[in-house]
Amino acid sequence: MQFNRQLFPDLDLTRPIVISGPCSVETEEQVLTTARQLAEKGIRIFRAGIWKPRTRPGAFEGIGTKGLAWLKLVKEQTGMYTCTEVASTQHVYEAVKYGVDMLWIGARSTVNPFLMQEISDAVQGLDIPVLVKNPVNPDLELWVGAIERLYKAGIRKIGVVHRGFSSWDKQIYRNAPHWHIPIELRRRFPDLLMFCDPSHMGGKRELISPLSQQAMDLNYDGLFIETHYKPETALSDSGQQITPDVLQYILKTLVVRQGGKPDAEKLSAYRAEIDEYDDQLVELISKRMKISKLIGHYKKENNIQVLQAARYNEIIEERVKQAAGLGIKSDCMQKILEAIHEESVRLQIEIMNMDNSKTSEK
Ligand code: PEP
Ligand code: MN
Repeated sequence: MQFNRQLFPDLDLTRPIVISGPCSVETEEQVLTTARQLAEKGIRIFRAGIWKPRTRPGAFEGIGTKGLAWLKLVKEQTGMYTCTEVASTQHVYEAVKYGVDMLWIGARSTVNPFLMQEISDAVQGLDIPVLVKNPVNPDLELWVGAIERLYKAGIRKIGVVHRGFSSWDKQIYRNAPHWHIPIELRRRFPDLLMFCDPSHMGGKRELISPLSQQAMDLNYDGLFIETHYKPETALSDSGQQITPDVLQYILKTLVVRQGGKPDAEKLSAYRAEIDEYDDQLVELISKRMKISKLIGHYKKENNIQVLQAARYNEIIEERVKQAAGLGIKSDCMQKILEAIHEESVRLQIEIMNMDNSKTSEK
């Protein structure tokens, strides 16, 4: 597959290409004010959701077709290109009818081949750029499949957006990045334009800057960031939206190594993967400690001693054997397990010594 990176004829492809705008279109004033502030800062592509995929019914599900007229005003008044999410044939027809310049496929659609086929059929024959967000689950083939369906429908201006992947226990990220998945996508399709969406990845405004920097270090082409002129009043994703002023500040502080050496890119990719595993390690250790505490309470209530030598030996022996099979030296694994076990015992002794009125605080 060969893609056309020039999404718009006059689009400057210098990194980062920035796409920004509110999570949702809410009012005419909100979109126009936000758009004007962004345009003043040199942003060329405006994002805004007209139809919103909300997890539960009853939340703000988007303003609908009525908002398309306001996006048209954004174009006329600021000269920015506009883009919105489409998740059905009807959305495609309506968006195109109102002159939306680019479409994006949301994570909840990329995951669904039936829907991807329907959307691809609807855009067949149109010369419109389409961005494909990663599917909600970390499955590269589903992502590739969605891109292939659009490609078969004749779409060549395709970009992808890494917005992180959903997991059942959200700790640091709303949608955890799995940097190696888009890296593999880029290895297969080197000319595919790649964006990072730090807003949906982090789910909090504080994470936008570090995630954007990481994306730049990994040689992403662009950033897809939610902005709102009054983020605290936003009807959706309020906690992750920033003002256009803050966006400008973040962009200014980004270090963009233009034409980065392939070696540096490779190193950043490895580091990103290590960070991801360290994240998982910390989260796993924290979960393990919580269970240790529960066991501590159980032992206390049932008068069982903290240190169970047989159990301790079994844990160490089994895991050291497993680790050796995976190429980890036994004394290294032993040290790690002992440190973890020592802390579990300390926690349980603390529980034993707690006065009984507090033992119910688990
Ligand atoms: C969005 O960009 O507003 C959105 C709904 O994103 P995602 O599909 O990544 O959840
Ligand atoms: Mn959003």
